[in-house]
Amino acid sequence: MLNLNLLVLMYHKIVEPLSPDFIAKFEAHLDYLTKNFPIVFPGDKLDAKRLNICLTFDDAYCDFYSHVFPLLQRYQAKAILAVPTKYILDSTEVPAQTRLAVPYPNGMDNMLYQSHVPFCTWEELKIMAQSANVTLASHSHSHLHLARELRSEQDFEREIILSKHILEHKTDSPVSSFVYPYGNFSRSLDKKVNETYPHTFRIGSALNRSWKSSLLYRVDATPFWQENRFLSDVELNRYTKQFYWNRLRLK
Ligand SMILES: [Zn+2]
Repeated sequence: MLNLNLLVLMYHKIVEPLSPDFIAKFEAHLDYLTKNFPIVFPGDKLDAKRLNICLTFDDAYCDFYSHVFPLLQRYQAKAILAVPTKYILDSTEVPAQTRLAVPYPNGMDNMLYQSHVPFCTWEELKIMAQSANVTLASHSHSHLHLARELRSEQDFEREIILSKHILEHKTDSPVSSFVYPYGNFSRSLDKKVNETYPHTFRIGSALNRSWKSSLLYRVDATPFWQENRFLSDVELNRYTKQFYWNRLRLK
C-alpha cells in the first residue's frame, strides 16, 4: 500500500525544430510509462499498490495534435491538455511547419497566435476531446498570473467561468479540471475556483495522496523524457517530503 500513490507530470511543447530528436525521446518515455504504470485521468480509480501517473500538457501547442495525440492513441495512453482559450482560433490554413516553428514559450508573444497559429485550433481540440485519450482542462482565458492579476469579479468571471463555458461549448465535452498558468495560485483563490472545477492543478513538485485533495501537485517531466530516465529514489524521496512540506505551509 502506497501512501502517496499519484504522480502528476507536467509537459509543455515536445516538438522543437532545433531539437529534432525530442519526439523520439518522448515516444521512448511514453512507451516506458505505459509499460510500467497505470496512466489515469482525474477521478479514475487508482491502483493502491502502485504509483499511478497522470499526464498534463500546458498551453495546447499544436505539436500536441500533430505528434503527441497519435502517440497517445498508439500507446493507449491518456493526457490532460490545458487550454488558454483566448489563444485558440477556429481553424487555420497556416502550414504545419510555420506553426511548429514557434518555440515554447513564445506562442503568446506579439500576436503570434494569430499570424503563426502555434496553438491547437478548436477543430483539432474537438477531435481530441471526443477521443478516449484526451480530456481538456481550462488553463484560464488569457494565461495570467491569477493570484495577482485577477482584480475584479469580471476578471474572475472571464478567466475562470467563461473559459470553461467556451471549452465545453466549442468541443461539446465536459471540463472538470483547471490548471493554474505558471502554477500561480493562492489558497483563497483556489477555494473559489474549486466551486467550478472538482480538480485544480498547480506545480508544487510533489506527489499526491490519491484524488482526495482537490488541489493537485505536479512535477516537471522535462528531465524524464529528455534524459531518457525515470524517477530516481532520491527524486521520489524529495517529492514525498515536498508533499508534507507543502501541506504544512498550506501551499
Ligand atoms: Zn501555461
